[in-house]
Amino acid sequence: MDKIGNKSSPKRRVLSALFGGTVDKTPVTSIGACGGTVTVDMQKAVGVHWPEAHRDPEKMAKLAIASYNLTGIENVRVPFDFVVEAEALGGEIKWVDKADAVPSVSKHPFKSPADFTKPDNFLEAGRIPVVLESIKLIREEVGDYLPITGTVVGPLSLGGELVGITNLLMWLIRKPDNVKQLVDFTSEIILEFCKAQYRWGADIVQVAEPTASLSMISPPMFRGYAQPALTKLANNLGGLKVLHICGRTLQIVSDMAKTGFDGLSLEEDIAQVKQLSGDVKVLGNISSSKTLIFGSPDEVKAEAKKALEARVDLLEPNCGISPITPLANIKAMVEARDEFFADKSI
Ligand SMILES: [Zn+2]
Repeated sequence: MDKIGNKSSPKRRVLSALFGGTVDKTPVTSIGACGGTVTVDMQKAVGVHWPEAHRDPEKMAKLAIASYNLTGIENVRVPFDFVVEAEALGGEIKWVDKADAVPSVSKHPFKSPADFTKPDNFLEAGRIPVVLESIKLIREEVGDYLPITGTVVGPLSLGGELVGITNLLMWLIRKPDNVKQLVDFTSEIILEFCKAQYRWGADIVQVAEPTASLSMISPPMFRGYAQPALTKLANNLGGLKVLHICGRTLQIVSDMAKTGFDGLSLEEDIAQVKQLSGDVKVLGNISSSKTLIFGSPDEVKAEAKKALEARVDLLEPNCGISPITPLANIKAMVEARDEFFADKSI
């Protein structure tokens, strides 16, 4: 592997890996995932807690930066939950006053296509300004040293939050026109939010689209509804962008690679994914629901080294870092990467 020296900042390393440039070592990040990068231990360490940090830009920024300071994960990411857009569009939110709980939609705002109306002031609605302000604050704090990742929910997943997942799945079978109108609507919302995140200082935007997983829909449904919406989105976003779909995806990896995203974040075996993804960068795939929570640091390192052997482009958890994940296991990802590249340089 070509070297760019030992002085690479995490931002340069991450951006270079996504652009297809040379890197001194594979970045260890948490760019692509559902949910966040923050754990209960991080909240205790910096004295900033959920749910307040979901609603306060300074607290959000402080916790996001703590994820780098406490573990060495080489990016800073906001927000930490999955319902910012749905809340801004009128969804009722259930808040739980616990450090390991994220908010969820308790009442879906839309029932039919007649409801699909974008508010004029969408960027000022709900917690959208909190997320944008926190990105600005993070940039002021980390300068050009760390990359900032903004997160949005994908077209089909946001659709599920807005009309209810049961409705969405029923429409996919019985009312395909409704789904087309829904993803057209959600794509417009997502595009506006992504562009704002870039403007406020994000280097990368992640689109988390778990509802497009083959654990939820069929490959023809992916190609008919999710893929066109994601392609349109990618074509209209000038900045770096990563698409995350967890669960089963092997049959649609090549379709995902055609959407125009710079990177794909997946749960599947990296070696198999690399054969299907062409030039698109691959992020993954340490199990966030099993190994990172319940495994030992050595087990995390073994999974990390397997992904590195398979030439993963950015070493990451395969979905969101659960709030109950031990710090030692997150650090083990970084240690595994450093050990792997130390071995290579002998
Ligand atoms: Zn996920």
